Amino acid sequence: MLNENTERALKESEVLLKRLDRVHRFSHKHEITPSRESMILAEAMQKLGDSLPQIDNPQNQDQLLQSELKRRLNGESAYLNQQLSGKLYDFDTVIKILSIPREDINSLRPWLEQNKERTQEAIERLFYAREIEEYELSLSEDIPSVRRQAEEFAGVHIQRYHKTLGRFLKGLTKVGEYLRDINAVPTNKPRSYFNQLNNNLGLRISAICFSKEDGTLHIREKELIRLYGHEGMGHALNFAVTRSNDLPYFLTKDSSFTIATAESVAQFYERVLMEDLKKSPETQRKLGIEHKFPDIYQETKDSEQLEVYKRKIFQYGIVVLGDKSSGNPNDPEVLRKKTNMLYEVAIDRSSVAGWVQKNRYTSFDSEGNLRPSLVAELKYCAQPVDRALEEFSRKGINYDEKGRNVIDSTFLKGLWTPIGFVDNARLRANSK
Ligand SMILES: [Zn+2]
Repeated sequence: MLNENTERALKESEVLLKRLDRVHRFSHKHEITPSRESMILAEAMQKLGDSLPQIDNPQNQDQLLQSELKRRLNGESAYLNQQLSGKLYDFDTVIKILSIPREDINSLRPWLEQNKERTQEAIERLFYAREIEEYELSLSEDIPSVRRQAEEFAGVHIQRYHKTLGRFLKGLTKVGEYLRDINAVPTNKPRSYFNQLNNNLGLRISAICFSKEDGTLHIREKELIRLYGHEGMGHALNFAVTRSNDLPYFLTKDSSFTIATAESVAQFYERVLMEDLKKSPETQRKLGIEHKFPDIYQETKDSEQLEVYKRKIFQYGIVVLGDKSSGNPNDPEVLRKKTNMLYEVAIDRSSVAGWVQKNRYTSFDSEGNLRPSLVAELKYCAQPVDRALEEFSRKGINYDEKGRNVIDSTFLKGLWTPIGFVDNARLRANSK
């Protein structure tokens, strides 16, 4: 049972967040922000947020909801004010709006330092262990007949994966049944996605298909599995499970403040799905990949170190470029300093240098702030899932047959900020 004050705050917040949703829909439709209504709303959210106590280490459900609601309301209000002010977005503002934990940003450089040598070795192993017989060509999507053929080809494979994996996951974990509510489709959009409004799980055709030199089409099974884990088991289930549970309204609304958590969850399920498949030759057979699965799995493991490294050096590059304190971002001396910082942890110097130069003129505003959409890519570096798993393991609950149901339902139920997500996991673990 929640205490009266919490109940009241939850009810009030529902009214306010629904108004915020209306503001978003209006702005989307008319391409203008209703500024008076927004100002009143920002103030009301701030006021309600301020009325809640500051609780840093919640000990029960009541305190958990209060602290998370306060975080959300004050955040939404500050974001709305930022939009109304017309102020440019500096690095710290973007990080705040996306709730990206500082500790995860600060750990990028040390990780790269510790892993440069290891990654170098992994590249060598990969180079000698794997024969790359032919070029994997990207699809000639400019040719209508190739495009149509690829759409159909990808569609058939996606359907088979969706059906087979849906049934498979239903048997593995309670949340698996929610996959039946989702439509998996091929998409030509530049990124795969899950759309919660129409339940479409769009998997990017050019990511999962390639053609060989002789013109035949092929599926990148490894990438299809990864994307299904990320978008399907991660994002789609996150929304489906959240919707079907009786949660306070604010935890069912996605927002910029919950994105970093959602990405951490989605990245976790990429790995989970690959491990699940490894244990099920029958499912591999149904997918028609049992003869190549050992190879798919091994390549995933071999290239894991490399993939993580590539992701982290890109993220660290954003941190370095986005640091305004080093001076005018167009100044050659400043650029040299920044490039050198990246060289210290870089394996491929030319791509680092090229990336810095590419951003030199196109990615900074007049106050020297790095483009917000680029800074926003740091949402993929948040690691609340790792911290939540530690909370569970401290209580003897691990991600195995026994612990899986409770961890899955904790991770996928509700849309939390990274801090709230870990607090929630700790309370769930303590209650077991
Ligand atoms: Zn994602």
